[in-house]
Amino acid sequence: MTHVLPELPYAYDALEPFFDEETMRLHHDKHHQAYVNNLNVALEKHSEFETLSVEDLLKDLNVLPEDIRTAVRNNAGGHFNHSLFWKMLAPNAGGLPTGEIAAGITEAFGSFDEFKAQFKAAAVGRFGSGWAWLVLDKAGKLKVTSTANQDNPIMNDEKAVLGLDVWEHAYYLKYRNLRPDYIEAFFSLVNWDFVNELYAKAK
Ligand code: MN
Repeated sequence: MTHVLPELPYAYDALEPFFDEETMRLHHDKHHQAYVNNLNVALEKHSEFETLSVEDLLKDLNVLPEDIRTAVRNNAGGHFNHSLFWKMLAPNAGGLPTGEIAAGITEAFGSFDEFKAQFKAAAVGRFGSGWAWLVLDKAGKLKVTSTANQDNPIMNDEKAVLGLDVWEHAYYLKYRNLRPDYIEAFFSLVNWDFVNELYAKAK
């Protein structure tokens, strides 16, 4: 099996004015495609791993041969993270959470505003490139984390229910150095229906 770039679930310009069309085109067609291509190149060297899903690859990197371990970590991670990220966004979305995750956030953080403050702090505070996450941890508790590079919480046995890409490629064309403005825009795009799906699966 070769890994394939999934289509965006909406038009490139559908997330305007929050995420601009040019960024979405580059981010999906070039950056995400590169992770997929590089993952396939790495796995060609050890074809016995070609049938594993990206999740299975990331869950136990130590079983992989050393010569492809870093490439798989970065590129299976990049493929998995971006595949989730596109679905975590939607046009005409954002605002307050709905459904089970709304109750879960209130229970874990006290309020949506407190969750949002913690998430923004994690996203602003991630030095260099990485992601901010809302995860369900091993104890079944919702918490905010961040990861470097293309690492995914699954590598720590935690399940992502919401994530934000804070690599500069995700925002620099429109927001330049203003990462906090990009983070605020993200909250106008969160697809709470999909977050609820992930939350239900994680539980
Ligand atoms: Mn990205």
